[in-house]
Amino acid sequence: MRRPFFCGNWKLNGSIAESLALATDVRNGVATLREVDVAVAPSFTALYAVAKRLEDGPVTVAAQDCFWEDKGAFTGEVAPGQLADAGCKYVILGHSERRQLFGELDAAVNLKARAAVRAGLSPIICVGETLAERDAGETIGRIQAQLDAALADMDNAALERVVVAYEPVWAIGTGRTATADTAQEAHAFVKSLYPTAVLYGGSVKPENARTLLAQPDVDGALVGGASLDPASFEAICLAGAEVAA
Ligand code: PEP
Repeated sequence: MRRPFFCGNWKLNGSIAESLALATDVRNGVATLREVDVAVAPSFTALYAVAKRLEDGPVTVAAQDCFWEDKGAFTGEVAPGQLADAGCKYVILGHSERRQLFGELDAAVNLKARAAVRAGLSPIICVGETLAERDAGETIGRIQAQLDAALADMDNAALERVVVAYEPVWAIGTGRTATADTAQEAHAFVKSLYPTAVLYGGSVKPENARTLLAQPDVDGALVGGASLDPASFEAICLAGAEVAA
């Protein structure tokens, strides 16, 4: 098993002060967990302050999206280089909320991922099927199509920086988690295609983390709701540390 990696996706939550308090709690909670890597993904406005607060480690910082150009007349966009400058190490790309609510397409995820790698960031690329796709038996095809598009034209050096997050859309924020077998099957499929670490995402909680993380191809978790509670996020990371030990 790879070194487990946990990223807390804070989504659209938190003032700068609240983000700093949460980041400090997370850092203090996971400081002794030497077997895992941990990142947090605050809103854009809190990235720099949180990165400064966490600069002595061990927790690193992720952004929740980026644009694909370095600079120019692109009002409202944020370049990967700006995120690196703000102290980010990772950027989450292609999250299902961006795909569903903001019409983000696979081609855009690919442009963003390649730009992120050029800027020295590691993209965390989210893929996963909807409930309708699962019910229609299209899960594997959907995952492959998303991955092939998102990772097009990336060489091995670029792929080494990529982390994939398998996030079945029907499990995100719903309280409904994929079974360990369902997750394992999808993760093994991703790894049969690409040499990346694969995180599971979708209602991960302290109560279900250990079973999921015990699967051989589950390399960690992208955690939404539970990452806003430092004790829950710490318990999830601890489960990863115990499984890895
Ligand atoms: C996510 O948004 O990436 C996620 C997995 O959310 P939740 O843990 O709340 O399902």
